[in-house]
Amino acid sequence: MSKTHNLGFPRIGARRELKQAVEAYWKGDISQDQLEQTGRELRRRHWQLQSDAGLDLIPVGDFSWYDHVLDLSAMLGAVPPRFNWSSGTVDLDSCFRMARGRAPSGKAAAACEMTKWFDTNYHYLVPELHAGQQFALSSDKLFSETAEAQAQGHQVKPVILGPLSYLWLGKCKESEFDKLELLDALLPVYGEILQRLRAQGVEWVQIDEPILTLDLPQEWQARFESAYNRLQTGGLNILLATYFGALGSNLTTACKLPVAGLHIDAVRAPEQLTTVIDHLPAYKVLSVGIIDGRNIWRTNLDSALVTLENIKARLGERLWIAPSCSLLHVPVDLEQEDELDEELKSWLAFAVQKLDEITTLKQALTGADNTVAIKLAAARTAFDTRSRSPRIHSPRVKQRVDSITDEMARRSRPYAERAALQRDWLKLPLFPTTTIGSFPQTAEIRHTRKAFKQGKLNEQEYISCMQREIALVVEKQEQLGLDVLVHGEPERNDMVEYFGELLEGFAFTRHGWVQSYGSRCVKPPILFGDVSRPRPMTVEWSRYAQSCTDKPMKGMLTGPVTILNWSFVRDDQPRSTTCAQIALAIRDEVRDLEQAGIRIIQIDEAALREGLPLRKGEWQHYLDWAVHAFRIAASGVADDTQIHTHMCYSEFNDIIESIAAMDADVITIETSRSDMELLDVFESFEYPNEIGPGVYDIHSPNIPTVEQIVELMKKAGQRIPAERLWVNPDCGLKTRGWPEVEAALANMVAAARILQDESAAGLKVSA
Ligand code: GLN
Ligand code: ZN
Repeated sequence: MSKTHNLGFPRIGARRELKQAVEAYWKGDISQDQLEQTGRELRRRHWQLQSDAGLDLIPVGDFSWYDHVLDLSAMLGAVPPRFNWSSGTVDLDSCFRMARGRAPSGKAAAACEMTKWFDTNYHYLVPELHAGQQFALSSDKLFSETAEAQAQGHQVKPVILGPLSYLWLGKCKESEFDKLELLDALLPVYGEILQRLRAQGVEWVQIDEPILTLDLPQEWQARFESAYNRLQTGGLNILLATYFGALGSNLTTACKLPVAGLHIDAVRAPEQLTTVIDHLPAYKVLSVGIIDGRNIWRTNLDSALVTLENIKARLGERLWIAPSCSLLHVPVDLEQEDELDEELKSWLAFAVQKLDEITTLKQALTGADNTVAIKLAAARTAFDTRSRSPRIHSPRVKQRVDSITDEMARRSRPYAERAALQRDWLKLPLFPTTTIGSFPQTAEIRHTRKAFKQGKLNEQEYISCMQREIALVVEKQEQLGLDVLVHGEPERNDMVEYFGELLEGFAFTRHGWVQSYGSRCVKPPILFGDVSRPRPMTVEWSRYAQSCTDKPMKGMLTGPVTILNWSFVRDDQPRSTTCAQIALAIRDEVRDLEQAGIRIIQIDEAALREGLPLRKGEWQHYLDWAVHAFRIAASGVADDTQIHTHMCYSEFNDIIESIAAMDADVITIETSRSDMELLDVFESFEYPNEIGPGVYDIHSPNIPTVEQIVELMKKAGQRIPAERLWVNPDCGLKTRGWPEVEAALANMVAAARILQDESAAGLKVSA
């Protein structure tokens, strides 16, 4: 019989129980036993849900207190020396120390680095590797959870990240070396793990090798076969899982590996199905990831069934059915959403609903009975109503996108001429100072927003409260002596949600949380329909802020690419089309701000870089439409209006051309932690517009000194002409407290004054 299975289930719990328990444990409010109790309960519930849905194999090892890559490092005994672990078991607090730098027990040390898991918004802890490293089995977590699930009567399939992906995702410490040199040391530990699982009666193990969907260097591709030859364990079947894209040039390698099964992503890369089947050895199972593990739409079961029937005709029972990837990336259960209307709800499927889709497909494939027919019909109705719904399709919006012209994506004059016009009215000093937008979001501000949302505060009261806050923020900035002011964003809970709530085409969930890292979760908006802006979104706040000061007030918007990348996006039209719709809405807002007398406008594109496709060959296409969308948003204004953009990262080496093509008059970026070295690329590319390299790290509570800032700016001055430099922090200040913000900004302004005096005195700023 064809099997159904899951690659992983969200671990956080339908009500984020894991977050609450872990944070309570960190604070010392609950004991380790109590924490373990919550973990056991969540695992039990999630396994039972998957069993009840009718899956044949239930994943184990997808549960983690913080991150599953960290768990693997613990299991392999790959603990960085600063954590003072030498041998034995890597315990829970050691894991927390690696993740966060501290734990209820043990000595604090610098936390491990965290980075994005492929193109998702999940962050893993980067394994730290050094030349000649040894590995040893150092955690029983996977084995005990396997036993735990078996004791509850489940058919389990332990899940573990594969050795090549593990090394690929790791980072060389101390010195650069070829990470592949560590493979031989790693494989015996994997061998041991597999033998232990076999001894526990496990029949199938899922080994994830997601790097097989990347452009892999030849040396890496070549090591797969011998590695998997060594991992063959009598009586144990390996399902090698790939996801997030097509196998591409790794296809033959993946198909012929000496393992019992291969899982592929048939949602992101349906076109690879035929070729994979052509290359699949006759003994091998093919697990087809047909349910989208990355998005929240209900599956069109009819078309999935057609695909599966075709595969079944060739593979028979060697066809397995699964989600495209782990369900870690979608919220837990749609049933909890009591505030979404029934129609919209009928278009969606979260993790729990996706399990049911998987088993329904299997039942339909093996001969549909009445219940299956009813489920298929329900899915069909949902699909039909969604595709025809007037809530999704606005002829006016579509027509506007169709009539976007090249002129609309171009400012009238080139930057050099615009800059002169802007200088004329702005009259800013050299090294002008500004901030990135938000100011501390105090408990009081959050409380006011909440009270308004709950109807406990009427609109007029709410507006007055926010205006008081804006006036205060403006006054503080004037006292500090900043040159270009902001209103402080007190009305925004989140830079995407705020705009989503004011635009047509977005919906919001109450419990649609997805793990971002550790105990942190995000609740992405659902972008379900054509996007339009019924009315101005920020104009009144900015207008009020400007009325409080004679200094220029900077309007503050989130850009179209960032709104797109941080939402669950509709799957019935290209992302580029959706992005263009958002761009038009933001363009209208930009023009309305300008009309209201706001002549400096910042359009944040914090998430532009993270939208890059996994394969380099697809980058340019993405960058082209993303930059185009930004330019549509930004180019509707007069040439003397100054457009800023902000990005909270600093690796621009491989995309500098596109960054320049955005043609923002000013770009503010994160550079403080790299000692301004990241500006090198702006220098060598001869980036023509103005730059505000962040002079201090807002993620740290440390207050930068005047000298540190002066020194950093001098380093910047060695790379960028002083006339084009701004002085600003490297991101928004909303997570910081007022005392540190005031102290840091005072030093920043003082540093700018020193730089101005030095250049006035004719000293060369570039030291
Ligand atoms: N304007 C936003 C803020 O200051 C930018 C946040 C971000 O870049 N992530 O908070
Ligand atoms: Zn930022």
